[in-house]
Amino acid sequence: MDADVIIVGAGPAGLSAAITLRAAGLRVTLLDREAQAGGIPRHCGHYPYGLREYRRLMQGPAYAARLVAQARAAGAEIRTQTNVVALHPGPRLTVTAPGRVAGGVAGGVAELTARAVLLATGARETPRAARLIGGTKPGGILNTGALQGLVYLGGQRPFRRPVILGTELVAFSAILTCRHLGICPVAMVESGPRATARWPAALFPRLVGIPLHLETEVAEITGRDRVDGVVLRHRGTTRRLACDGVVVTGGFRPEAALLAEAHLARDAGTGGPQVDQYGRCSDPAYFAAGNLLRGVETAGACWAEGRAVARAMLRGLAGALPEGSTPLTASGDALRYAVPQRTAPGEGAALAGLQLRVNRPFRGRALVTAGGATLAHAITALPERRIILPLPSGPGPVTLRLEDAP
Ligand SMILES: Cc1cc2nc3c(=O)[nH]c(=O)nc-3n(C[C@H](O)[C@H](O)[C@H](O)COP(=O)(O)OP(=O)(O)OC[C@H]3O[C@@H](n4cnc5c(N)ncnc54)[C@H](O)[C@@H]3O)c2cc1C
Repeated sequence: MDADVIIVGAGPAGLSAAITLRAAGLRVTLLDREAQAGGIPRHCGHYPYGLREYRRLMQGPAYAARLVAQARAAGAEIRTQTNVVALHPGPRLTVTAPGRVAGGVAGGVAELTARAVLLATGARETPRAARLIGGTKPGGILNTGALQGLVYLGGQRPFRRPVILGTELVAFSAILTCRHLGICPVAMVESGPRATARWPAALFPRLVGIPLHLETEVAEITGRDRVDGVVLRHRGTTRRLACDGVVVTGGFRPEAALLAEAHLARDAGTGGPQVDQYGRCSDPAYFAAGNLLRGVETAGACWAEGRAVARAMLRGLAGALPEGSTPLTASGDALRYAVPQRTAPGEGAALAGLQLRVNRPFRGRALVTAGGATLAHAITALPERRIILPLPSGPGPVTLRLEDAP
């Protein structure tokens, strides 16, 4: 064994899990493909990070550095520039890294084994190609993560007057990033009737003088080498807006490329691995935590989930987790996904309840049935907004049904 537990991904979820597992005396190795550990917060040079974890407001890089230092001080081994390229039963991982991988073969490829593996590879934004936006393919189209990497890590100013596409919370992070370098977005565009982020974040663009176009789509991006404009479509009419860049924000999906060829069951709704309430995958030697499970949450939520799933792993390694699970039956045409996808009989769930999202604006009830009892929860939600319901802990299958209000 190369370690008791190998963690893939050194963001908030992986790091908090490493600290928890080290506190129990396990040998822990964290692998991350980036040159530095810390995950997304490393390039988010803005607040608010750290409130739940350290009881203070921090900017992303300081928060990431503190978590990494804590994991190192706890004795976790952190290997950066180490890309996990395949998952196998065992558990066994194939990894690549520049030069010779410790314990591996020449040429930068190695096989690593452990008693258990935690997957914490995070999420990524939906790129332009998947959004079916027409037009040319000039330079100057970025997602928020790439924008932040250029601005905070590279000190570059990729454009001066971009359009920001989307109104999830991360779009406001894009505005903050732009303002950091004196970039002035010319518009924010949202296809729905309201901003996705909750009040008061949704007021922010107006406060800083950025027009917010609701019920509007970017039909086309124009420009040859560089973006020179977008064509906006609003209720059947189109008009051109001059700009020199487009920031495509949000639409987070699990970073689950590793699952494509793996033996682990995958959920069609989230795109991430299927897990039970302990974060345990279909191969019980593998666990998962953080944004890989469902798209984006706050760093604090991922940090807490990493710790909770690590505690479940300790129980699993001690043979104290219940065996077997039943699929959660979820229905309702407004339902995009529900996590966990399976439930095992037993107490002490690691995941924070039954997490769901809808695929359209929804007002109605969620009916959760277990052990012959049904609980009804009133819900009003927009797509991409988090919904968390209590997860029944009794034995037997759980069903979830979304019912629109009459
Ligand atoms: C632009 C932006 C702004 C944000 N602003 C805030 C904010 O202000 N406050 C807040 O609380 N939250 C914010 N968030 C959310 C928060 O940063 C994330 O929810 C959090 O970082 C998720 O933690 P994670 O550990 O699940 O994943 P990540 O932080 O994404 O870490 C995953 C790690 O896995 C590694 N990895 C992926 N695949 C592999 C592989 N195959 N092999 C090896 N390594 C791999 C990646 O390199 C990465 O380091 C923001 C998110 C974004 C995108």
